[in-house]
Amino acid sequence: MNLILLGAPGAGKGTQAERLQAERGLVQLSTGDMLRAAVAAGTETGLQAKQIMDRGDLVPDAIVVGIISDRIGQPDCARGFILDGFPRNEAQARALDAMLVQKGKKLDLVIEVQVDEKILFDRIRNRAAESASTTGTVRADDNEETLRNRLDVYRAQTAPLLPYYRAQGKLHTIDGMQTVDVVAKQIAALLDKVK
Ligand code: ADP
Repeated sequence: MNLILLGAPGAGKGTQAERLQAERGLVQLSTGDMLRAAVAAGTETGLQAKQIMDRGDLVPDAIVVGIISDRIGQPDCARGFILDGFPRNEAQARALDAMLVQKGKKLDLVIEVQVDEKILFDRIRNRAAESASTTGTVRADDNEETLRNRLDVYRAQTAPLLPYYRAQGKLHTIDGMQTVDVVAKQIAALLDKVK
């Protein structure tokens, strides 16, 4: 079972992907987490990505497409994977379609976690405060100015993927304003239906 979680920053994709990984043995592939790890490790990719991420813009397609292409070919992904934060524009979606064909894999479904933009600012503010108190650090892009840009980028570049996947008959939408548990149950029901 291979799926994509789509949704604005702060919609709860990461939270749901972690649960699916724990409960179903699907591998969570978060390009945001992988890029942050590259930044922390000071790799070439990390050096290239850091300033772009801090502004809330998209890092070059070639970088994220390369990361995902390497990753989905690894043995732990054979049982299935959850793409969280990828694809983020149409070029990435097309590159994903091509790499899946090339690797003999397929996408089973795309789940949009839909949220009201107004609450995203509260969520990101809470996430920053919680992270500061538990780890003493805050994601460099979890501030209001960058979030505003991340939302603009989502609307302009990522939201057009909704019709793209609707046309493939793969898109399902879930109300992400419900509790984490209810959202998780609805995602589980979708996966069971497709299985
Ligand atoms: P968000 O909470 O905004 O969904 P992510 O952790 O998914 O955050 O991503 C953080 C940043 O990493 C993005 O703003 C972007 O700069 C970069 N990034 C992550 N995934 C991609 C991608 N698929 N294409 C381009 N840039 C990406």
